Amino acid sequence: MTNPLRPISFEFFPPKTDEGAAKLATTRRQLAQFNPEFFSVTFGAGGTTQAGTLRAVVDIQAAGHAAAPHLSCIGSTKDNIREVVQQYKNHGIKHIVALRGDIPSGMGEFGEFRYANELVSFLRSEFGDWFHIEVAAYPEFHPQSPNAEADVRNFINKVNAGADSAITQYFFNADAYFRFVDEVQARGVNIPIVPGIMPIQNYSQLQRFSDMCGAEIPRWLRLRLQAYSDDTASIRAFGLDFVTELSDRLLAGGAPGLHFYTLNAAGAVSTVCQRLGY
Ligand code: FAD
Repeated sequence: MTNPLRPISFEFFPPKTDEGAAKLATTRRQLAQFNPEFFSVTFGAGGTTQAGTLRAVVDIQAAGHAAAPHLSCIGSTKDNIREVVQQYKNHGIKHIVALRGDIPSGMGEFGEFRYANELVSFLRSEFGDWFHIEVAAYPEFHPQSPNAEADVRNFINKVNAGADSAITQYFFNADAYFRFVDEVQARGVNIPIVPGIMPIQNYSQLQRFSDMCGAEIPRWLRLRLQAYSDDTASIRAFGLDFVTELSDRLLAGGAPGLHFYTLNAAGAVSTVCQRLGY
């Protein structure tokens, strides 16, 4: 592939067991060969993995890499957020992915933040320019937004609140990304909007994730994946070709980098990065 090598980053979730932590350390070492700009670590809404996120980012930093914790604000008070973020600052973390998050079922709405733009404003007012703040973008629109226009406006609010860059929800339709970027740029947004890339390894898992987050699996892609049934080797081979071509097309069209959802495994993501020339 002949595209310029723009920055890449890799996303992990915090491991729950010692075995998971050891596996993640191996994955991180394998992916470090691609010189990522940072490794990010997700954060469970309601604080379920708050300690795990901190532990994982501290491990990443200790191994000599930049780490970016995700931080969701729904259900939190300003005091909770200030305390968590101060811990990150004390550890020398300079990069945060600022999110609203989702309320876990069974928990009522509470807390002092309603939307991610309020978290971005709070981080800027409390911590100035210490952090590089990333926000989420949805080229196929957030599932709870009433319409595309409202979602674009809400994204622009997060940028105006002080976001430095954005990472998108994953998508399989490059045109949705290009349209979204063109539209927000025409409305004055000039921060990098980095596509989130999901490897395709297992159809039922992909379908479950996509239903939850509102990412569309186009009909032709769904039917092809379904046709492989339980032939996992063929699904993976097809998935690698598809995801490499999508990534290549995004870079060729001007995407400022790529952010890979690794699901804590290096295999598929490494192959895609190698094929792209990283
Ligand atoms: P927001 O930007 O606040 O938007 C949420 C919804 O509210 C949208 O529909 C938006 O249009 C609408 N909205 C925004 N402002 C207003 C307003 N003023 N009035 C009315 N409506 C408004 N979740 C986690 O729990 N942990 C993670 O680590 C995590 N990491 C993620 C990383 C990435 C790159 C992405 C794309 C998503 C991630 N998520 C994570 C999922 C995310 O938390 C959910 O998608 C969540 O539903 C929305 O978060 P947000 O920050 O995009 O919210």
